[in-house]
Formats: sequence, C-alpha cells, structure tokens
Amino acid sequence: MWKQNTNNPLENAKLQMQQAFETHPDFVQYQDQFAKLFYPDRTIEISIPVRMDDGTLQIFTGYRSQHSDIRGPYKGGIRFHQDVNADEVKALSVWMTIKTAVVDIPLWGGKGWVIVDPRSLSRNELEQLSRWYVRWLYKYLGKDTDIPAPDVNTSGSIMAWMMDEYSLLNGEYTPGSFTGKPLSVGGSLGRKEATAQWGIYVLEQILSYSWEKIAGKKVIIQGTGNVGGIAAELFHKSGAKVVGLSDIDGCIADENGLNIPEIFKQKKLGKKITDTPGVKKIDASDFFSLESDIVVPAALENQITVENAGTIRAKIVLELANGPTTKEADEILFSKNILVIPDILANAWGVVVSYFEQIQNNTNHYWTAEKVDAHLQETMKKAAQWVYETAKSHDTFLRSGAYIVALQRIFEAMADRGK
Ligand code: NAD
Repeated sequence: MWKQNTNNPLENAKLQMQQAFETHPDFVQYQDQFAKLFYPDRTIEISIPVRMDDGTLQIFTGYRSQHSDIRGPYKGGIRFHQDVNADEVKALSVWMTIKTAVVDIPLWGGKGWVIVDPRSLSRNELEQLSRWYVRWLYKYLGKDTDIPAPDVNTSGSIMAWMMDEYSLLNGEYTPGSFTGKPLSVGGSLGRKEATAQWGIYVLEQILSYSWEKIAGKKVIIQGTGNVGGIAAELFHKSGAKVVGLSDIDGCIADENGLNIPEIFKQKKLGKKITDTPGVKKIDASDFFSLESDIVVPAALENQITVENAGTIRAKIVLELANGPTTKEADEILFSKNILVIPDILANAWGVVVSYFEQIQNNTNHYWTAEKVDAHLQETMKKAAQWVYETAKSHDTFLRSGAYIVALQRIFEAMADRGK
C-alpha cells in the first residue's frame, strides 16, 4: 500500500486508482500493468535560455512528461507557472492517460510545464520562451508522437508560436503538432468554451438521473480564468446564481447572486474581481463554506483538503480543475454524501475537442460549430453514462466509477500490446 501523502499529486493519483483497482475483482489479473501505470515512459527536463529585454540572460526550467502511448500519441497541456515540481508534472500526465481512456479517444497522457511567472515577462520574452521549449523538445513532439495544448497561463497565441516553431524545424506546415490554436491557424470551433461547457453538460446529464436542473442552484467557483471564468458565465446563462467567486486576487460573495456579466466585463478591462462595487469580500479560508448547492474548483490542484472539506455545505462538487481534491478530502465529502463529479470526467472536453482539432488538421477539412458540438455531446453522454452506471453497479462513488472505466480500457490495451 502506498504512503498517504496528500501534498503529492502523484501519490494522490495512485491512492485514487488503488481504490478503484481494489473495487473491481477482475483487475487482479492486471497487477503488473497496474504497477507499471505510475511510471511515465519518460520525463524530460530542459533548461531554456531567454535573452530578456534588458539584455540579461535568464534560464528557465521546463519539463515534458510522456506517460504512455499505448493507444495513441501522448497528449496534454503545457503550463507556465512558478510553483511546480517534477512529481506534479508526472501526476498530470498520468491523469491525461486516465482522462483520454474515460472518454475513449485514441490519445494518451502527456504534460508539460515551465517554471515561470509569465506575468513577469514581456510578449517578446514569452515568445522566445515558447519557441525554445519547442526547439529543445522537437524530436519528442509531433502530430503522431506528442501533441501539446494550452493549460494554466498558456494560450492559443502560445500554441501558434509553438506550432510555427515546430513547422519551421519540421520543414512543413504541421498544424496537428499543437492543439488549442487560434482559428486562423487550424484551431477548432468550440475550443474556447470547451472545458467549462463540457463540465456543465456533464453536470446536467448527472442531474437528469435524479430529475434535477441547474437553473436556480447556488454555485461558488474558484478560479476566473479560461475554465472558471467561462463556467461562471455559462452557469449564469443557465439560470444558476453564482454566489461566490475567487481567484488569485481574492474572494467575493453575494447571496443574491453576483452580477457575472458586469464582473467579467470589468475584468476584461483590467479590473480585479475584488474591485466589484457592492460585493462582500471574504477570506479565502471561508470561501468553500459559503452556502451553496454546487462548488466548482476551477483553479489549481489540492484546493479541497482535510482543512476545508468538512466545511463544504453544497451537495455537489464539480471538479473543473485537475486534481483539486485530496484523497482524504474526497473521503470526507463521500462521508457527507456530497456527490463529487470527478475531474477525469468533468474537465475532459479540452482533450476531446483537441482530438477533434487534430482530426481536422490531419485531414485538412474543417468542421462547423454544430458538427463539433454534436460530436462532443455524443462523446460526453456516452462517457457520463459509462461512469454513472459503472459506479452504480460497483456501489461506489463516481470517481472510482470513472477510474474503473478507464483502467479496464488501459489494462486491456496494455495486455494486448504485451506490456
Ligand atoms: P487559468 O490560468 O486561465 O486560470 C487559473 C485561475 O486560477 C485564475 O483565475 C487564477 O487567478 C486562479 N488562481 C490561481 N491561484 C489561485 C489561488 N491560490 N486561489 C484561487 N484562485 C487561484 O487556467 P485554466 O485554463 O482556467 O485552468 C484551471 C484549471 O483547469 C487547471 O487545473 C487546469 O489544469 C484545468 N484544465 C484546464 C483546461 C483548459 O482547457 N484550459 C482543460 C482541462 C483542465
């Protein structure tokens, strides 16, 4: 049995999978495959030199973890953030393998990271950093090898620079080497709203099993970026009340519902959410205990912990961030009968739409928004149903259900390839 260490995301991933592994009696034949699952095929560390605008040279450390390519190329985002360690990158790459298996697409796990606070870089410095990342990793990347995408603090423009650098090195336009690109250079329609919209579709699907709806529910959301910001706008449009919002600048609350369109209009003009007039500013330690029906962590890992899980008053946690709940916190939520819709199901749209983007790039034929949405809804419905029914038939919670669905596919593929 692994050591309990909730601060280490790789340990958390192992503990969560161990639980699913033990729930399913047939998995006993896959002991070897299970043991191998926690070792990425390779984790590459690189040193990236950037000539800063003031003429000095700064060296940044970057990583790419390639977890497994058993059923297809490696796939996963690149994050630019100042706080990271190699274990975190490895854990995120394992999660990508699990996530792609839950939704049953032929791509497997990878993840990248550069230790940097991108807000401290100019546009020119950021572009150099992005291009050097590709130069150092070129021979390990590619449309049939490893296809990165955006993650925390990376964007479509960064993917466009990276794809451009890759294409230059490759000697031909290779749009399928990176996904999450702008539409002008081979991006897919439906990408921007991707993760948040999928999460809300999944929530609707799960709520529909008990004849419930999103409209009228009170929601609190941690994170106002690509995922949390769009989730706030979509919840608002669906008739839910967003009663709490938090990000790096602080936390705000209004029990009657925050004015989401106005907050995000102001945010686009450079205002902080805490600058919103007429809202209550609260301490981060009180955020998750706000009265609500649905809690949406959409920022970083390990945010719901033993310290705050017991204070959550909602009935549902919709995990749009990756790994936001520690193993022990998960058990507290389960004991309080709080339904956790796990990250590996709830935030998988990014990778599904990335897959659709890749199909479009590789066939050089582009889909309408309606076609993207129809394919996504079909994929989501199947995945949510597999997870829900598997959890029900094993009398376990949704996270274990999702892991069982994924592990079944992974073990079969590993065994068939003789791994
Ligand atoms: P982002 O950089 O756009 O936003 C991150 C948000 O978290 C920001 O609002 C930031 O202020 C907030 N934040 C950072 N530290 C915080 C703290 N200590 N307390 C409260 N808020 C804090 O990133 P994103 O793309 O929205 O990603 C958010 C999460 O969703 C990550 O876990 C990411 O891995 C996951 N995710 C992203 C995608 C995607 O397509 N962007 C897909 C799947 C999963």
